[in-house]
Amino acid sequence: EAAAKAAAVNADSGTPTIFDKIIAKEISSTIVYEDEKVLAFRDINPQAPVHVLIIPKLRDGLTMLGKVSVYHCYFSRLKNSPIAEARHGEILSHLLYTAKIVAEKEGILDGFRVVINNGPDACQSVYHLHLHVLGGRQMKWPPG
Ligand code: ADP
Repeated sequence: EAAAKAAAVNADSGTPTIFDKIIAKEISSTIVYEDEKVLAFRDINPQAPVHVLIIPKLRDGLTMLGKVSVYHCYFSRLKNSPIAEARHGEILSHLLYTAKIVAEKEGILDGFRVVINNGPDACQSVYHLHLHVLGGRQMKWPPG
C-alpha cells in the first residue's frame, strides 16, 4: 500500500500519460465506446468481469515553451493544479453519462460501480482523469 502511494505521488507530474498514447492509438486498447469527447476502453488489469475506463480525450491545448510544446494540463484529477473548474462541468457530466452508456452496452445495468481514484491517498496511478466502471459481480461495501 505504501509503495502504491509513493508511486502515485511520483506519477503526478502533470505530463502526458499512457492514456494520451491510447487516445492517439499509438498503444492498442480494447475500445468499448468512443465519441469526439471521450474514450472508453477495457482496463488491462480488470478487477471485475467488466472493468472499463472512461477518459476525456481533449486537453485545454498546447502551449509553446521555447521550441517545445507542452500540454496545458486539462486536469489530471478532481483536485490538482489546475483543479476541476466550473467550465469543466460539461465534460464531467458527459463522462458520467458515458458510464451509463458503457453499463448498458456491457449488460450490467442491474448493478455497477463508478469509481474515480483521486490522488495519492486513493492510490491513483495514472494522472489523466478517468472513471472506472466495474460490474458483472457482486460488489462489496466499503471498497478497500
Ligand atoms: P490504480 O492503478 O490504483 O487503479 P488509477 O485509478 O489511476 O489507479 O487506475 C489506473 C488504471 O489504469 C489501472 O486500473 C490500470 O490497470 C489501468 N491501466 C494502466 N495502463 C493501462 C493500459 N495500457 N491499458 C488499459 N488500462 C491500463
